Amino acid sequence: VISKTRFINYSRCRRYCALDEIHKKKLLATISYEDLLEEEAEAKKNELYMSMYDEEDEDLIFKANEQLEAMMPYYRKIEILAGSVISRKFGKDVIFSLNTYDQKKFEAFYEDYRFYCFLDGFLKNGDSFSVFETKATTSKKFLNLGPNIKKVKESIFTTKIDDPQVLVLKEHYQPDLLNDQKYFTFRQKLFDKFNDCGQYVFDLAYQRFVIEHSENKEKFAFKKAKYYLVVLNSEYIHDGRVDEEGEPIYQDDIVSFIDLTSITEEYQSLIVNDFQVVEENLNIMDASRCSVSIACQRKKIKECPFLSICFDKLPKENSIFAYMGSHHGFGAEKLSALELYNQGYYQATDIPHEWLARRNNIIQRDCIDNNIAFFHHQKIKAGIEAIRYPIYHLDFETFPCPLPRFKGEKCYSQSLFQFSLHVEHAPGNCDKEKDHYSFLANNHEDCREKLMNQLCDFIKDDKGSVLVYNQAFEKTRLKEMAELYPDLRDKILSIRERIFDLLDIVKGNAKLFQALGFTEDIAKEINFYHNRLDGSFSIKKVLPIFSDLSYKELVVANGMDAVATYARFPKIEKAEFDKLYQALVEYCKQDTWAMVEILQKLKNIIDYSKDFV
Ligand code: SF4
Repeated sequence: VISKTRFINYSRCRRYCALDEIHKKKLLATISYEDLLEEEAEAKKNELYMSMYDEEDEDLIFKANEQLEAMMPYYRKIEILAGSVISRKFGKDVIFSLNTYDQKKFEAFYEDYRFYCFLDGFLKNGDSFSVFETKATTSKKFLNLGPNIKKVKESIFTTKIDDPQVLVLKEHYQPDLLNDQKYFTFRQKLFDKFNDCGQYVFDLAYQRFVIEHSENKEKFAFKKAKYYLVVLNSEYIHDGRVDEEGEPIYQDDIVSFIDLTSITEEYQSLIVNDFQVVEENLNIMDASRCSVSIACQRKKIKECPFLSICFDKLPKENSIFAYMGSHHGFGAEKLSALELYNQGYYQATDIPHEWLARRNNIIQRDCIDNNIAFFHHQKIKAGIEAIRYPIYHLDFETFPCPLPRFKGEKCYSQSLFQFSLHVEHAPGNCDKEKDHYSFLANNHEDCREKLMNQLCDFIKDDKGSVLVYNQAFEKTRLKEMAELYPDLRDKILSIRERIFDLLDIVKGNAKLFQALGFTEDIAKEINFYHNRLDGSFSIKKVLPIFSDLSYKELVVANGMDAVATYARFPKIEKAEFDKLYQALVEYCKQDTWAMVEILQKLKNIIDYSKDFV
């Protein structure tokens, strides 16, 4: 008995089915129909999660159930919204629910197995029907799918001429595009189930296959069927209107429909292969080792639950995956890290030196081989000298709400609710408590103007640098706030212009260091490396190398905790609220104090050539 989620998992590799079977036996359990429903519901929740967090940030992938739970009210709001928009647009007879138990179900026998699909939305209209698959993501992924033409993204999707709420493939209006190599290349990504857009097309193609092979198929005229993805409109901007209860009022165009009818039809000849692979995997039931691949989804939200079994030879630190830029490959054959693992290379030091062609990888290897740290003293010195005092060490916390809450926000806007600021008046002159300023919302009301006013008061008009770690995030937030609050615009833009990225000093930045007079080759090199970085320059990895501070002891220990804690604010009792409020203040304070400590340590190393331990 196989649902969509199981189908996707069973098609990962030959080993998965057998490991899953062993796992079930260990639990002395057989899979019931209820279990399937539960699994489908979990998969939906995970999708919401996937949209809220950046998978590249390794701190965010280890999720806890309570964090997911904190997000559920937002997920339910999407459900209600999508359901009502679909009924208004397509007809009230639509069967719609994101709750698997209440969904329209199809089942198909294929070979010896029974395949199920549960549809978020289903509308039968005479002898035709429409299928709606709701995803807690936005149309942005589809609008970004396409080549850059003269530095402008040309999506392979466009709005339907007579219905701007629907996105269709451009070939719908310009069939000649199918002969355009660039267009075709991006279109092919729709058939890649590991691609950002392709993963959704694969879901819908699976459902189409089950529907078209279902027992009651004779009732449906497949030629007239329509298949839609229902997503949030990434272009929609909330005008700030609220109802009597203070809840935001949205227009129907907050929801976009992506018409994937023709693509899912084309997909059918491909997906039959996946059905055969799944059938074969289930028949063989072979738990012996098989090759790892992209299907393992290592360090992604959809990571295979058996990863620790198949990657058991991988050391905890400094594995072959620790090399930066490993997607460029290694050796003459440009082998990927996954291919290397399959060939028996597990540790970073297993790779022959001559296979390392990139200078940064050679630096990494040298640090690992010799257990030393690498510093490019002149670059770090030049970087530090470019910073002006007083330094304002700044960090924001935001809530990526799926539905906009306040005026000017879009779906998944990073809505500001906290900042932390440490002011370093002169080199080394910064007190962790006395020179700390912060703002943290204590409820879910719009606090952005108050927050920006306080920030503008604390950051004086004195030309001091505003130091952040990984500037793109803070710069984008400040730009948004400058547009939203014209009275504060000049002040906010001045703060934005004074931003200096500490990551540029720690890791490097080719453009910055070329501007500071270094040759292109030197500018491209990393400034610092330590074998405990394990290939990552996230502040959580960098800080323990320079300081005794650690995030492990904190109640709120990462960005994801911070978001989930803030999400729970309106629902918790006073005593717990006070505790969590303080925990959030401490977490954010640590982020900026970490910058103070890292900068100080770097200065010591440069100024006094202190040995680094
Ligand atoms: S970790 Fe990879 S190889 Fe192992 S079962 Fe999962 S998908 Fe298959």
